Amino acid sequence: MPKFEGGCLCGAVRYICEAEPSAQGACHCRDCQSVSGGGPAHSTMLPTDSVQITQGAPVVYAKLSKAGNRVSRFFCASCGTHLFLRSAAHPDRTAVSVGTLDEPALYTPHGHAWVESAPRWHRLEADLSRLLRDAA
Ligand SMILES: [Zn+2]
Repeated sequence: MPKFEGGCLCGAVRYICEAEPSAQGACHCRDCQSVSGGGPAHSTMLPTDSVQITQGAPVVYAKLSKAGNRVSRFFCASCGTHLFLRSAAHPDRTAVSVGTLDEPALYTPHGHAWVESAPRWHRLEADLSRLLRDAA
């Protein structure tokens, strides 16, 4: 069983998860571009009830996604790192930002979502599938 462990840039928020991801991939939607800083947002999708915050308390910002689902994003209040995303469409799943993992090598991208929102300089790996567009 993989052990996903990580935290934010400043270390105020830490989490752990010992569960198999249901999906892993890159989201190219405009909202994810905002939080990623420019590129797609790479996430590993883990069962919500298995993601345990072991230190700190992230703040939440929620808005409707392009698909019309309420999406909650969890940030560190001190350093602003985007740690997690949860969609009301799939509350049992939490997308954990790959950049926050202590071991990013645990991430294996399986596909892309919202590809039509990607600028031409977002490189797509040709061997990866496109995920369902209502993933978030
Ligand atoms: Zn922080």
